Amino acid sequence: MNTIVTGGSGLVGKHLKDILPDAVYISSKDFDLTDIDRVDAMMDYFRPKVVVHLAARVGGIMDNISYPVNYIEENIIMNTNVLKKCHEYNTDRVISVLSSCIYPDVVKNYPMKEDELFNGPPPKDNFAYAMSKRCMATHMDAYIKQYNKRWCYLIPCNMYGEYDKYEEHHSHFISALVKKIYEAKDSVEIWGSGKPLRQFMHAEDLAKVIKYMIDNDIVDNFNVAPNFNYSIQKMTTIGLEACGKELGIVYDNTKPDGQYRKDIDSSKLLSVLKDFEFISLKSGIRRVYDNFSKRYD
Ligand code: NAP
Repeated sequence: MNTIVTGGSGLVGKHLKDILPDAVYISSKDFDLTDIDRVDAMMDYFRPKVVVHLAARVGGIMDNISYPVNYIEENIIMNTNVLKKCHEYNTDRVISVLSSCIYPDVVKNYPMKEDELFNGPPPKDNFAYAMSKRCMATHMDAYIKQYNKRWCYLIPCNMYGEYDKYEEHHSHFISALVKKIYEAKDSVEIWGSGKPLRQFMHAEDLAKVIKYMIDNDIVDNFNVAPNFNYSIQKMTTIGLEACGKELGIVYDNTKPDGQYRKDIDSSKLLSVLKDFEFISLKSGIRRVYDNFSKRYD
């Protein structure tokens, strides 16, 4: 085995396992990455040529607001341990994952390109998470500069997929929406005004990009997002259509909206993966809904 995937039990990790079954998929139960001795044991045992570093403390907006200490500490410690040990064990390739929500809160030109990452402070609601990811980017860039590493990172937009979690504190908008649509009798309740704009990607698409980069030995940093940027309201309507449900939409304005927009530009990626096609939002939601219905019926 020459590829290991941290965060192998998470949303992206499980979708990657479906298309890259020969790698080793690591969860926190196998190796707690906040413990440097466990990271050392993992690297010593597997001696990987490629590390796909997906593991992170990840969660919804309220979790980010309530537990900023956990977000900054767990992520900085995990990322530092992993990069340090990848260096010590001479890991040829590290592909890690940042997030579009770590870009500056507001920029002049949208969609944002990769070189905008440090051009202003991230949004206040996920500031700690964002700074931990920006630290990882800085840390990787430092290793590249000082030691000529063949390491890189991907910056995806929000994701959803069959393997997402549905607990309220954790789930992201699309997964929460699918659950609400499934359970609703008359209407679905949406947090905030429904006006913010978002890009959403099926996690299988990010998995395909990671596999392509490994198979074709591509070493570069890329944004990864489909080219739509819909309002929450529009995505809710698409979700209802995809699931074949006629329900009203109620907006809970006591809940935060988050950033108004944070769309990113994937043209750099698409200049390399020329024929890449993202799963459409409607068919992706349908897949998740069918899967959810089978599990919970
Ligand atoms: P996820 O479903 O929340 O999974 C998180 C993974 O990290 C799990 O496998 C978890 O293991 C592992 N992990 C957490 N703490 C750990 C620890 N102390 N030691 C070892 N492993 C630990 O995350 P995801 O949605 O797949 O996200 C993958 C990556 O994409 C993350 O870096 C995230 O920041 C980034 N990202 C995600 C989104 C999104 O919308 N989901 C958007 C942009 C970027 P256990 O299962 O054992 O806890």
